[in-house]
Amino acid sequence: MRKQSGLTGTSNNSAPRPDGPSWHALPEQDALTRLQSGPTGLTAAEATERLRRVGPNILSRTGSDGPLLLLWRQINNPIGWLLIAAGALALALGKPTDAMVVFGAVGINAFIGFIQEYRAGKAIEALSAMIPEAATALREGQPVAVPAEDLVPGDIVTLQSGDKVPADLRLIRVKNFLAEEAALTGESLPVAKHTDPVAPDAPLGDRACMAYSGTLVVQGTATGVVVATANGTELGRINALLNQTGQLETPLTRQLATVSSGITVAVVVVVTVLIVFGIWIKDAPTGEALMVAVSLAVAAIPEGLPAVITICMAIGVRRMADRHAVVRHLPAVETLGSTSVICSDKTGTLTRNEMTVQVAWLEGREYRFSGVGYAPEGDIEHDGIRQADIPPSLADLLTGAVLCSDAALHPEGDGWAITGDPTEAALVVAGRKAGLDDHELRTRHGRLDVIPFESDTKFMATLNRLDGAHRILLKGAPEIVVERCALDEAQRRLIHAAMDTYARQGMRVIALAGKDAGRTEQISPADVAGGLAFAGLLCMIDPPRTEAMDAIRACHGAGITVKMITGDHPVTAEAIGRQLGLLQDGQNAVEGRRLDGLTDAQLQEVAQATNVYARVAPEHKIRLVEALQSRGYVVAMTGDGVNDAPALKRADIGVAMGITGTAVSKEAAKMVLMDDNFASIAAAVEEGRRVYDNLIRSLAFVLPTNLGLACTLSLSMFFFPTIRVDGVNELLTAMSPSQTLWINLVASVALSIPLAFEVLEPNAMRRAPRSPDEPVFSRFIVARLIIVAALMAAGGCGLFLWEYFRIAGPEPLTSARHALALAEAQTICVTGITFSQIFYLLNCRSLHDSLFSQGVFSNPSIFIGIGILLLLQACFIYLPQLQAVFGTAPLDGSSWLYAMLAGAAVLPAISLDKWFRRRRRG
Ligand code: ATP
Repeated sequence: MRKQSGLTGTSNNSAPRPDGPSWHALPEQDALTRLQSGPTGLTAAEATERLRRVGPNILSRTGSDGPLLLLWRQINNPIGWLLIAAGALALALGKPTDAMVVFGAVGINAFIGFIQEYRAGKAIEALSAMIPEAATALREGQPVAVPAEDLVPGDIVTLQSGDKVPADLRLIRVKNFLAEEAALTGESLPVAKHTDPVAPDAPLGDRACMAYSGTLVVQGTATGVVVATANGTELGRINALLNQTGQLETPLTRQLATVSSGITVAVVVVVTVLIVFGIWIKDAPTGEALMVAVSLAVAAIPEGLPAVITICMAIGVRRMADRHAVVRHLPAVETLGSTSVICSDKTGTLTRNEMTVQVAWLEGREYRFSGVGYAPEGDIEHDGIRQADIPPSLADLLTGAVLCSDAALHPEGDGWAITGDPTEAALVVAGRKAGLDDHELRTRHGRLDVIPFESDTKFMATLNRLDGAHRILLKGAPEIVVERCALDEAQRRLIHAAMDTYARQGMRVIALAGKDAGRTEQISPADVAGGLAFAGLLCMIDPPRTEAMDAIRACHGAGITVKMITGDHPVTAEAIGRQLGLLQDGQNAVEGRRLDGLTDAQLQEVAQATNVYARVAPEHKIRLVEALQSRGYVVAMTGDGVNDAPALKRADIGVAMGITGTAVSKEAAKMVLMDDNFASIAAAVEEGRRVYDNLIRSLAFVLPTNLGLACTLSLSMFFFPTIRVDGVNELLTAMSPSQTLWINLVASVALSIPLAFEVLEPNAMRRAPRSPDEPVFSRFIVARLIIVAALMAAGGCGLFLWEYFRIAGPEPLTSARHALALAEAQTICVTGITFSQIFYLLNCRSLHDSLFSQGVFSNPSIFIGIGILLLLQACFIYLPQLQAVFGTAPLDGSSWLYAMLAGAAVLPAISLDKWFRRRRRG
């Protein structure tokens, strides 16, 4: 029975029992026994059965703001309170219908904001879930890649540098293992782990024989048995979500928050002036003057704007995901639009990462391999003669290469697929072409120990049992391997010359060496520091991706500099850089180590001038990012390894690789490429520009309406005559509060949402990147705002006065005639302004270019939006229920016509403005 407790205590739905075993205090063998597991792991059937019992290894997502708090946040802002005050005032003045409409608007607004924020949060969360989390578990002794959510207690999991720990593990084997546990303990320095039990009361940070779910492996390898999954883990217990969904605030929304505060202050000032003017100068009843103030407050506030902005962003994020770029952090959508430098890895991002060995070089002889890709079919030739019998020295070289690799090859569909590192897979394929079976070799010459490949060290070493002896095999970058080999000067020169020849052809060159290790059972870096026997070179091609070449051209056209940063040899990097169009004649690659000696100022100079960097170590990346940023560039930087994480964090847009990237790099990145392809970064930049353009379009569309409404109401207070009705002074007000809300919430939103679907402007990827400091309200936008608002106000006021006096006739007026005339005049005023919005919308599709530049029907949703609005406007005018709420009256045909003509004035006016501006810009 005791054995069961380890399993049942980790149920997905319940926290671990307080009396559950202290795994960290148990010797590893006891932990395995309690979990009914062993060194070979579980059988597939047992794992499935346990999964059925304990549920998937997924944290339930709690811990974010509750719905009530989220709703409260929508109301608790200056604009929300201003509207509530306006509604309360309307109620106090005996206008319950207006008050209800204002309160209704506050409610609807809060609801829309709530839904949008909630959904945007969920959408980002869902996108994060698209980034797969895999783990390696031993099932019946075989390592298999499984989704992290399928892990169960008792599973044996292997970890290596760069992994995120997928569940709570009791470690049973470690090698140089360091974990970063900040997510749990707040301690950002990595902690060294071992397998010895610790005291039962040891705090979390001291339990060195445990690896906890959600923490990151920053060095070494380990094997552990799963002791807890899902909510049973320490991470689940503290309910912290490592997969943070990212904030929803962006530079633009922050600027808009400042603008809203400005609007609030301006509204309070203008309203005060209006009240004073109405009561003391125009001698109007206090209640009337206060109602105008309420109307103005409601009119000037862009109630629909938050909804429009969130919709634009959400559509952008979705479209980026469709183009294989998953945004983990919403502000990245906007930053992408202003990216001015993209620093990209070479292998797999700019190239296909389909390595094929083409040449083996040893003892001064060159062997050429035919065949492409991973199909293990091809011949080996020397001096143009097919080698039916593989020379023993070549067989030795390839045997070493296969044994010192982890990749595997397997048939898939009609072709061949690999698991593991493509560079190593190429070696396995080359071995097969020479008739060497990797399975058989690896079984026969068992591996005793390994020093895994790291980009920093650029080598990998294994200790194998070869022909009864223990032998160290070393493979890595040639200069690293050669310096550890016992060679004379002439031999060194010969090897360097050969390496240079192949690198110049754009090939990646790997060198191999070996030495006997006596009876040693383990190896350390010191064992491979020298005295090795050089075995030969293996040179492989990795052709550039054609779509990357196109994307680089598109980036150049868009004023974005592309820089290639690679761990490869400078000569290889230059050859590939030239094929990709990154290097012009006379330009060269700069080696990482050259950057080390530079001062900050010199580094900035070099960083700006150089487009290809070779033999770069991850720490160079962060210096490059900083140097470019201090020159004012907005930098996107790609990375996949553990050590790339700081540079990814520091970059404006850190981009991780979805397929080959480590969990650590994904965690640090703001965007993840699902296909590891450079073209997807370029696509995301394009989408970023589109989103930003659409946001600006929406602002340029929505805000003039608010200013126009505020001007209309101010003009009516300052210049409309006071009318005597049945002996009492009555103010003529162009619109009631509920009517201005109709325009703000119904007309503005119905028309601006289609703008979020606007296609990319034809020149969007032909203009220079936007400066990140560029204010949202450029002089041009402000000028446009004023022109449109003036036209709306002039049209609205003109229509109102014309209609009012047409219906009312000469004074003295009865209150019935006044009421009828006022209702019709207000209705035509609202309709005229709505028509201005419709015509202005057509002009907003491109802020600079003519109405027709976007293609009239390229965005059908614009016409759908207009159609819906006209239908709603007809309801607003003719439906008795809406007449009662909004105080509207039916209009005749001529009134519709005049309203339309007044609204249409905006079309030629803005077209003319655009034309002048285009001419001035030449
Ligand atoms: P990029 O930065 O363009 O993506 P990369 O990350 O592939 O390039 P590294 O993986 O750091 O570059 O490789 C640097 C060098 O290390 C290569 O030029 C090669 O000589 C060597 N190398 C690459 N992979 C292995 C491996 N699995 N084992 C041994 N040596 C390797």
